[in-house]
Amino acid sequence: MELQAVPDLPEIRPGDDLAALVANRADGILESGDVLTVASTIVSKAEGRMADLEDFPAGLRAREIAGRLEALTGEEKDPRFAQAVLEESTDLVMEAPFILTETCFGHVCVNAGIDRSNVPDHDLLLLPRRPTESAMRIREGLADNGYPDVAVIVTDTCGRPFRHGQRGVALGWAGMPASRDWRGERDRDGRELGVTVQSVVDELASAANLVTGEGADGTPAVVVRDWAFGNLEGSDELFRDLEGDFVRQALREWRYDST
Ligand code: GDP
Ligand code: MN
Ligand code: MN
Repeated sequence: MELQAVPDLPEIRPGDDLAALVANRADGILESGDVLTVASTIVSKAEGRMADLEDFPAGLRAREIAGRLEALTGEEKDPRFAQAVLEESTDLVMEAPFILTETCFGHVCVNAGIDRSNVPDHDLLLLPRRPTESAMRIREGLADNGYPDVAVIVTDTCGRPFRHGQRGVALGWAGMPASRDWRGERDRDGRELGVTVQSVVDELASAANLVTGEGADGTPAVVVRDWAFGNLEGSDELFRDLEGDFVRQALREWRYDST
């Protein structure tokens, strides 16, 4: 497997056609059958998801959350930021010492994935509204520009519980399933695998994020070559529902017990 950045992408602006911008730079880099990962930052910019704090006048709940965060952390917290997070979310999982929510498309992350870095002229960059639809549009756009059958993954850099550090994750995908189901396959001792469902879109997003980097380098699109999904069953389940998410249920119980 090989990973290669798409070179020389410009600063992305609202309305930019990402598929065309990539296709114009993809000669010798992208081929049919490859996977293209695209950082959500540039998808958001192309979709005009920049925002300013003044767009989010804080309601009572946001002011409560910001107040609690300030008391806990000793840092100043803008209630308008808390308001933006609430408006981008369908469920509040934890409100302190950081705001953990489920975004409108099902991804659980801190601050609804709202970035305050790499956003010229604006305070905030919201995540794409529907990253899987974004991935589908980029995939179709690549086909229109002479690159048929490229799977597309929209990624973000995200922290995780239990471990230090951030890594790339998939927010949306098109042209391939999210995961590969090994259940029913045999291990080296002939034992049947009972639980292994491999989240391939996250694994590819993580690998690509090594090339993307986090700084000012500007390589937000990466081509993955010579990687094949194979012939196992695929599934598009990535984000757990609350009913099947025992950690989130435990957090919920703990929250009610402790308040
Ligand atoms: P995220 O992981 O999706 O939140 O994206 P990051 O903010 O970490 O950015 C990923 C990479 O894309 C970094 O290398 C940034 O320098 C780069 N980047 C961000 N915005 C742009 C842009 O508009 N154009 C280009 N060419 N690179 C960008
Ligand atoms: Mn981000
Ligand atoms: Mn990043």
